[in-house]
Formats: sequence, structure tokens, C-alpha cells
Amino acid sequence: MKLRVGHLYPDYLNIYADRGNIAVLARRASLRRLELDVSAIGIGQEATPGEHDLFYVGGGQDREQALIAADLAAKGAALREAVAGGAAALAVCGGYQLFGRFYRDRYGGDLPGAGVFPLETYAGERRMIGDVLLECSFSGEQRTVAGFENHAGRTILDKGAEPLGRVIGGFGNDGQSGFEGCRVGRAVGTYLHGPLLPRNPWLADWLLAQAAAHRTGGQPPVFEPLDDELEAAAHAVSAGRARTRGGRY
Ligand code: GLN
Repeated sequence: MKLRVGHLYPDYLNIYADRGNIAVLARRASLRRLELDVSAIGIGQEATPGEHDLFYVGGGQDREQALIAADLAAKGAALREAVAGGAAALAVCGGYQLFGRFYRDRYGGDLPGAGVFPLETYAGERRMIGDVLLECSFSGEQRTVAGFENHAGRTILDKGAEPLGRVIGGFGNDGQSGFEGCRVGRAVGTYLHGPLLPRNPWLADWLLAQAAAHRTGGQPPVFEPLDDELEAAAHAVSAGRARTRGGRY
């Protein structure tokens, strides 16, 4: 089975090796005899609801975000319809901010967003940098997510919005709420770079299973476990650093 991935702005939003998340998804998919068909969706290119099972967007500096924001906002209705229709998504840092309603930069200028996530982001003076550890619940299972954050943006979720997880170590969405990221349907937004998925293979599998469910119209498949010894070690190192020094300026 082919899973169709729409990679938004790969040439603009790709810092901290965020592109590595696609490599992890492709590798873990192939080990389950699934094929990942990745197509780039750039400026002026359509994001057609139903055409992709999974959308991915990476992080970027304010400058790069400013170059694509209007184009992404114009795709907002299609992306909201796609996610409402069951498409999966992973949006990282700068991409996560612009999957919200807007990102207000430190000069007070608003970069419009796609409005997939019920949130707004305001750039602050001091950057929030360091390792992060979250606890979260997916499909009824308690999980942890470990990664690295570097952002000036403070993200405020609407009342009642679902975060990705509770911060154990690190700054998270705004350094105060104690939460990080956002979830809507099968879409996940987070500040965590690294890239994220090599240290959190269970999340890669969850995204693949959601994309497969969108492709077949059925239930998310349960994949046979893989040997994730190296991934577990990378997770442990990142988690350890987050516990000891995460969330400190
Ligand atoms: N430019 C945004 C900020 O500083 C996002 C940064 C990023 O993607 N790492 O908050």
C-alpha cells in the first residue's frame, strides 16, 4: 500500500534536520511493507483535501516563515478540510506556529496561518532553547516524547484545546502553561526538533497508522514492533538532559 505524504515547503522550512522526520517515516513504513509517496507542496501549489494521507511541515526562522505564510494561509481551508476528513499531520516549530491562526513577530507584524490548530503565537524577547521531555497519552497509552526546542514564539492554545503533552522538563508552548504542542484529530503540532521522530519511534508508528487508516478508510493498523534499541537510547539521553537542565534560560 502507498501512503501519500504532502511535504509542505521543504525548501523553506527545514531546520534542525527536520527533513529527517520524513526519512524515519519512510524507513519504518518500508519495514511494514508500506511505501511512502512523498510529494513537495510549495508556494503556489495546491493542497487538495483527500489527495494526501499525511501532511508534514518543518521549522524555520522568522525570515523563512515570512516568505511562505501568506501562501500557507491561502491553503488553510483545504488543510482544515483535509484534517477534518481524517488526514494525519505533523507540524514542527515554525510550521506548528503557522498551522495556528497567526504568528506575531517581535516587530508586531502578523504572519497569517492555516488555522488548523486553535492557537496563536507571539514572539518574545528571549528564545526558549534546550531539551524537552513531555508525558502524553495516545490511544489510551501513557507515553513520553523527548526532543529539542529553540523558539522565540510563545504559543497560546484556545480554552479547551488539546495539547500534545504535559511538560516534565523544558519550556514548551510558552514557558508557563506547563503544556506543549497541540492535537486536532490526527494532526499533531509540536516545538520539538531533533529531528523528533528518531527519538520517538512510537509517534512515527502512530502517524503511519493514522495515515494508513485515512488511506483505507478503516481502522489504524497495529504494526509489529521493531528493534528500537538505538532509538530508546537516544530518547533516554534527551530525556535525561531535559530533566536536569530543560526549561532554564
Ligand atoms: N521562528 C520561530 C520562532 O523563533 C520558529 C523557530 C523554529 O522553527 N525553530 O519561534
